[in-house]
Amino acid sequence: MVMTKIAVCVCSGGIDSTVAAAIASREGYDLHLFHASYGQRAENREKEAVEKIAAYLGAKELKFVELPYLKELGGSALTDITREVPVAEEVNLDEEKETPSTWVPCRNLVLLATASAYAEVISADAIFVGFNAEEARAYPDNEKEFVERYNAVLEKAVASYCQPPTVKAPLVDLFKPDIIKKGIEVEAPLHLTYSCYLGGEEHCGICESCIHRRRGFKEAGVDDPAEYSNTKVIT
Ligand SMILES: [Zn+2]
Repeated sequence: MVMTKIAVCVCSGGIDSTVAAAIASREGYDLHLFHASYGQRAENREKEAVEKIAAYLGAKELKFVELPYLKELGGSALTDITREVPVAEEVNLDEEKETPSTWVPCRNLVLLATASAYAEVISADAIFVGFNAEEARAYPDNEKEFVERYNAVLEKAVASYCQPPTVKAPLVDLFKPDIIKKGIEVEAPLHLTYSCYLGGEEHCGICESCIHRRRGFKEAGVDDPAEYSNTKVIT
């Protein structure tokens, strides 16, 4: 009997994690999508997107978890509504930029730890994440080294009778245009994704996430299915 491989796919509803989930599907895994609410501004939009993405990809399960303490701890413009999310010219697009105010302290570590607990419960073989080279320019928890070190920790983090799952980051060397092209190749539902930090009905078009998204589609030469309320060009 052929054993089905099981993957937990950490999915925010954005492009990167959706393409990673579509790759897991192509590789023959049964998908268990995993989404966390941590008080992010776009939480409702993200949830709506993930529900549609899970249905499209034929996921076996969609697991929502609440991690409200990340908002409680603060330290991020994404979760603290008294702080402004940088938009338009306030967004620092330099290659060597400092970590922006939209960084959520240790978020990916907390997400992975929680996804790992879920993976242990369902005996998953892998945990797919959308970490990538574009995000890694500003966020160290998107780097290949973070994934490698986390996998080393994971070997000692699950029960001794369990085979530890492996975190897989298939986009870790890619920038946004190539992620979008990869998404088309693996038939990822890019039309169902939501990327905006602000959480409005339409994408704002001028937050850091929207700017990366718009530039990525433009550079990939692919039509962006998102509606933007502001299409100001940011260079
Ligand atoms: Zn936006």
